[in-house]
Amino acid sequence: MTETATATLPGFDVEAVRRDFPALQQRVHGAPLVYLDNAASSQTPRAVIEAIVAYYENDRSNVHRGVHELSQRATAKYESARGRVQRFLNAGGPEEIIWTRGATESINLVAASWGRTHVAEGDDVLISAMEHHSNIVPWQILCQEKGANLRVIPMNEAGELRLETLDELLTPRTRIVAVTQVSNALGTVNPIRQIAQMAHDVGAVCIVDGAQAAPHMPVDVQELGCDFFALSGHKMCGPTGIGALYARRALLEEMPPYQSGGDMIASVSFEKTVYNDLPYRFEAGTPMIAGAIGMGAAVEYLEAIGMSRIASYEQDLLSYGAASLSSIGGFRPIGTARHKAGVLSFEIEGLHPADLGTILDRQGIALRIGHHCAEPVMRFYGVSATTRASLAFYNTRADFDALAVAIETAKEILA
Ligand code: PMP
Repeated sequence: MTETATATLPGFDVEAVRRDFPALQQRVHGAPLVYLDNAASSQTPRAVIEAIVAYYENDRSNVHRGVHELSQRATAKYESARGRVQRFLNAGGPEEIIWTRGATESINLVAASWGRTHVAEGDDVLISAMEHHSNIVPWQILCQEKGANLRVIPMNEAGELRLETLDELLTPRTRIVAVTQVSNALGTVNPIRQIAQMAHDVGAVCIVDGAQAAPHMPVDVQELGCDFFALSGHKMCGPTGIGALYARRALLEEMPPYQSGGDMIASVSFEKTVYNDLPYRFEAGTPMIAGAIGMGAAVEYLEAIGMSRIASYEQDLLSYGAASLSSIGGFRPIGTARHKAGVLSFEIEGLHPADLGTILDRQGIALRIGHHCAEPVMRFYGVSATTRASLAFYNTRADFDALAVAIETAKEILA
């Protein structure tokens, strides 16, 4: 690999970073793996794998309940990981971080708890045209149950939200504004601060789907001014099956439980149950302990590199990738917003995405073909699927060079 193929940010040694990721060292179908499916799930650095192994080898036990040494160690690690996520997001306190299975469960928690108690017949829930299904369907179900209206902020051809429509869409009947910070299908970065402010101006709460933002840029929930922020561990170098919800303490305090059972209670009798303190009130049952510990290690790993450096490096890589793909005949980008992160979605004229994906896989290139759980976005662009290359800070310019060559090969094979 040449120097220019990798070095794009002074002081950032991407080759050293890559060595931290065992899975990146392999060959697939005889070719070096080029992993460009990070929006679906990122790879795991050794530090995260080791943190999970250490829990299973030394501290394996349940949390919060045991007086014995192992349980105390497990609890300390589990709570320390919560503190790491709190600092990563700049939440006001650890009680504002609820462990969940991922962004999907975080959003469902808000819909089921805050939504059920605050949305009534005739109210509005406002989402955007570029949401992932997990930020559409929970609101649809809530609206059906309550007789409320699901409204949608439209977008333009570039894949940018048409914010001028908010003046009309936001009314005193709007209870919830649920928007993604970064679109997984298009890569668009939305101006959350402005949207949250406008939501608050009409008395609504703002929930941010941060699944695609947290892996790519510094996130400060207090700066954003949002009320809820959902994230997934597995998209930010953590394990699968773990995620978190940031929620403002004042809102959490008056929210009813989401699930119920052990650990979320202070006392139970057949007549009456007193709920536990925050955040445990929202964590019924034995949690994903190893997952939380792994996610804490992932956050520590990302912070050691620095989210600002990750953002700068990836911005350069995104521009390089977009430029190199645009020189391919028949290339049509899908999503050309001015402010993007992490994602290049496209079509190649005359090539079916499924055929293209299969041939790219044979050349060791992992990317995603499909609707990316954002069918309304596909419908907007009049396509059934796109090919999506999505990057992380361990990708290189050489990865995009390899992708461009592999697409040319696919064109020859399929001609
Ligand atoms: N929102 C967005 C924008 C996503 O990209 C995803 C994952 N593709 C989700 C939510 C759901 O995340 P998870 O499946 O990890 O819960």
